[in-house]
Amino acid sequence: MNPLKIIVLAKQVPDTRNLGSDAMKPDGTVNRAKIPTIFNPDDLSALEMALHIKDRVPGTSVTVLTMGPPKAADIMRDSLYLGADKAIMISDRRFGGADTLATSYTIAQAIKKIKDYDLILGGRQAIDGDTAQVGPQTAEKLHINQVTYAIEISEITDDKIVVKRKLDKGIEIVEALMPCLITVHGSAPECRMPVAKRVMKYKYARSKTEMTKAEDWLQELHKERPYLKIEEWNVEDIEAEKEKIGLAGSPTKVKSIENVVFTANESKVLSDSEADIENMIKELIDHHTIG
Ligand SMILES: Cc1cc2nc3c(=O)[nH]c(=O)nc-3n(C[C@H](O)[C@H](O)[C@H](O)COP(=O)(O)OP(=O)(O)OC[C@H]3O[C@@H](n4cnc5c(N)ncnc54)[C@H](O)[C@@H]3O)c2cc1C
Repeated sequence: MNPLKIIVLAKQVPDTRNLGSDAMKPDGTVNRAKIPTIFNPDDLSALEMALHIKDRVPGTSVTVLTMGPPKAADIMRDSLYLGADKAIMISDRRFGGADTLATSYTIAQAIKKIKDYDLILGGRQAIDGDTAQVGPQTAEKLHINQVTYAIEISEITDDKIVVKRKLDKGIEIVEALMPCLITVHGSAPECRMPVAKRVMKYKYARSKTEMTKAEDWLQELHKERPYLKIEEWNVEDIEAEKEKIGLAGSPTKVKSIENVVFTANESKVLSDSEADIENMIKELIDHHTIG
């Protein structure tokens, strides 16, 4: 079959599974300096799925795309160490404060700039926001098919893909026409280990922002080895409308954040009857949780 052009969506996230007591400041805001950042785990599974296809279909290329601050270049290097062919960052202060709507708009604009792709793979959800909305919203904005909760690609041809989805009550097998976007469930196979040879090859890969502080020898090395460039795009590069990005493009406003620890007697078991669901919605509206 023909080689595929795959884009993998990846997000750098705070390591919420390893938070110390100093993770929050006394004023309740996040103490970012004290929280290590990692490659979002589901995105690593998505990258593995892409690399697995690349192993099977010679000539396939894998481009990893992220939107994030300059520090997100770390996961771009990790992607290259693991086997990606290219790394692209969408990075600009004006993208800051984005909710899922603004994030998916920005990612979709960057994908339109990349233009030529067959398959987009992303994680099901990011461990910091946990919304699982960015993948499906991006597919909607690109007007392409989407398959969520994927754990395995069982068949792939030039125009069609067969995917196993993990559902609560079992496995579903679905077929989709390409191009399509697939979000990968955390129970899909874990990503392979970095390849020592690739670590040596890409350890000096740097983004445009990182290169502004680079010493002369690194500037020279980048001139000699163009593959060390981590592509970095700003608002103008992806032709984004300013009112659709960052805070301006984000209708979600987080009013306050509370640390809630539930005790057993605070939980409620509901049936799936119309009456129970209606009561629950009324209660949520009364408490201003929704509405
Ligand atoms: C406390 C808190 C509450 C929030 N509440 C809301 C809310 O109610 N509604 C809302 O819209 N936003 C909310 N946000 C913001 C939201 O979490 C972020 O906007 C985030 O960028 C996108 O959502 P997510 O992390 O949930 O991603 P998910 O939708 O969980 O991510 C799914 C996948 O999409 C891809 N992806 C996600 N972000 C990126 C990225 N930046 N670059 C590349 N790929 C990416 C990855 O493959 C990822 O695995 C909240 C943030 C915080 C901190």
